[in-house]
Amino acid sequence: MTEAPRPLKQEQEQATDIVTQVAPGIFRTQLPANITGLGHVNMYVLEDERGVAVVDPGLPTKESWQAIQQRLKQIGVPLKRVHSVIITHSHPDHFGGAARIRDETQADIITHRLFRMWWDPSEPPDLEPEELAIIMRNPTEKPPWGGEPMVIPWKKSRFSRTHKNPARMFSMPTPTVRLREAERMTFARREWVALHTPGHTEDHLCLFDPEGGVLLSGDHVLPQITPHISGLSANDDPLALFFGSLDKVGALGPQVNLVLPAHGHPFHNLSERTEEIKQHHLERLQRLRDTSATLGRPASVMEMSTHLFSARAQGPMADSETYAHLEHLRQMGDFECRSEEGLLKYVLH
Ligand SMILES: [Zn+2]
Ligand SMILES: [Zn+2]
Repeated sequence: MTEAPRPLKQEQEQATDIVTQVAPGIFRTQLPANITGLGHVNMYVLEDERGVAVVDPGLPTKESWQAIQQRLKQIGVPLKRVHSVIITHSHPDHFGGAARIRDETQADIITHRLFRMWWDPSEPPDLEPEELAIIMRNPTEKPPWGGEPMVIPWKKSRFSRTHKNPARMFSMPTPTVRLREAERMTFARREWVALHTPGHTEDHLCLFDPEGGVLLSGDHVLPQITPHISGLSANDDPLALFFGSLDKVGALGPQVNLVLPAHGHPFHNLSERTEEIKQHHLERLQRLRDTSATLGRPASVMEMSTHLFSARAQGPMADSETYAHLEHLRQMGDFECRSEEGLLKYVLH
């Protein structure tokens, strides 16, 4: 018997050149992004009398750069009219085109105050920056939960296969405007409020237009997938941060009638979606408790990970997310953690 193909999630759909006006002065365009679990990144274009601001200008690839120019042309805006680049967070599928746009137009680069780059740009791989921080520091260093060093098979990564040296083509963006919580800026003739939404990354920024009821949600709230929560965070409990940020944004619910995510289609049911994402993680936490109860002995992060993620999803990112969940449970007092032969092992309290 062959397995039926899984239905494609919205976030996995390949980029098309369809440009849609999703609200007055706001266009959704899609840039190609064939990376783990994704097919495109939405670059929103916010138009006003000064020109345009773009949000999350894709990966640092030639293909994406061509698409940026093409999409702007479709909207009828020459590249030189881009006055601002807004980056929701420090992942390469969101900041890729930013520095090059600035080189060509002197556009401002706008991020959250905490925005930071983590790794050597000459080797951009498929993993998340937090994982890379560890690897780049010392390629043989073990992750904090022990086990095998998180060595990346660079040559095999899709990124290095298709893009020999993206860093040569694109320099890393340096923010010119670092927003603080609740700071306001005007784009597309709307006043946006900066909302710090740490969890997926520490520097995640959402922008909220209270009058128009529009939220630019980046990767914080996506329509059909849940963003990766890395255990390799500067914060002790990134999952707790993420829950806090979900509640914060979910509480805007009735005031928001349009959510513009960085991947997938725009949607309306914000509070419902933040609740679903929270439930997803609460279920995972419960599954870890149940698994530990069944095992009746301490287990490593890698072993616990096999109970949370499908065989297809196993690997350093799955381990890292499992670690974030186990650490959350430990800090809540549900789990105990001990170190055995260089491995952290977790057991229900
Ligand atoms: Zn991201
Ligand atoms: Zn993303």
